[in-house]
Amino acid sequence: MKKMPLYGKILIGMGLGLIWGLSADSLGLMEFTINWIKPWGTIFINSLKLIAIPLILFSLIDGISNLSDVSKLSRIGGRTIALYLATTVIAVTIGLLLVNVIRPGKFLSPEKREELSRTFAADLDTKLTTARDLKDDGPLQILIDIVPDNIFGSLGNNTNMLQVIFFAILFGIAMIMAKPEKVKPVKSFFDGANEVVLKIVDMIMRFAPIGVFSLLASLNIDMQLMTALGVYSLNVVLGLAVMVFITYPLILKFFTRLPYLKFMKGILPAQVLAFSTSSSAATLPVTIDCAEKRLGISEEVSSFVLPLGATINMDGTSIHQGVSAVFIAQAFGLDLTLGQQLTILMTAVLSSIGAAAVPGAGIIMLIIVLEAVGIDPTGLALILAVDRPLDMLRTVVNVTGDSTVASVIASGEGELQTVSDVPKP
Ligand code: ASP
Repeated sequence: MKKMPLYGKILIGMGLGLIWGLSADSLGLMEFTINWIKPWGTIFINSLKLIAIPLILFSLIDGISNLSDVSKLSRIGGRTIALYLATTVIAVTIGLLLVNVIRPGKFLSPEKREELSRTFAADLDTKLTTARDLKDDGPLQILIDIVPDNIFGSLGNNTNMLQVIFFAILFGIAMIMAKPEKVKPVKSFFDGANEVVLKIVDMIMRFAPIGVFSLLASLNIDMQLMTALGVYSLNVVLGLAVMVFITYPLILKFFTRLPYLKFMKGILPAQVLAFSTSSSAATLPVTIDCAEKRLGISEEVSSFVLPLGATINMDGTSIHQGVSAVFIAQAFGLDLTLGQQLTILMTAVLSSIGAAAVPGAGIIMLIIVLEAVGIDPTGLALILAVDRPLDMLRTVVNVTGDSTVASVIASGEGELQTVSDVPKP
């Protein structure tokens, strides 16, 4: 019999996990699930996070030091950032257009609004404090935060990815500029270390079907609340779908020769993982692996574009922010002016850039968007109940967006292998 490919097994794990997760409560298996199944999911996510920082550090330094000159880096860097910004603006615009046409806020009865606000008030308190802490910083705080005062401190905390990226770029550039004969041993060290880290990713991924099963089996999704917020959720999902099925295919068609189906099949393992972990950062090792081995993107491009994307490019998150802000305003009976909607657009772009690539980060940043247009942030309580499933879906879009841009950049550099050259996964 033909051996089943890994992503097939991961998909089966995902399906079984969803079935288990939805039926565990009614079968009285909740305690068993929490004690005996959930830990495997946690171990799986931990091992992915464990390898994320070493992967960024080694692959980025290795990738940049392979560049022939610094001007290539600034070309790739400029294009990457421009594309990331463009896709995010497109994403929020799509979200805003849809939410203004569908008007999901009108479907929520005043009683349901009351009930939701009461149920989720406590949870909201901690989120509000976190967002206020974030907001009190000055306008250039984002830049200050990128430059660490101690690299070992940054390496010790997974939320400091941008600082690690900054250091790796600096180190890589210095390697290109230093005397080649002196740098040779350093180069071979990073070459080798990068190879080893990629092997570890492979090893972790063998465990993925079980990890994904455990993560989904132990998710407790409240279907009743999902239905109450159905139109709003559908609105978010529709926005995400437009991005995945219309915007990205068009971008790929215009800028690359990569067929869309081939692209989607290639990044499927990363999408499944993004769905199960709700974290672009935890998914990053697999996104890089898929980009290089299944899409044929050069290591030079993927090791630079994808870590940066996981940290700053969140198209799914920005759609969610646009739709949610307007939804909450509608539910409160507020009519937003065009100027206010433009403010939402701008703040949603910025806050999606600032959101950490971890579960639930988007909803914390949403508070900043709400406050920017004077919507009472306690309105967040209305949508907290369905945030997890929507987070899973928007993370899939975040990862898909990063991979789309990586394909475009690679294609522009002539570093996207033609389809037939890519080895079968
Ligand atoms: N979970 C998302 C991510 O990691 C961020 C968000 O909460 O929107 O990409």
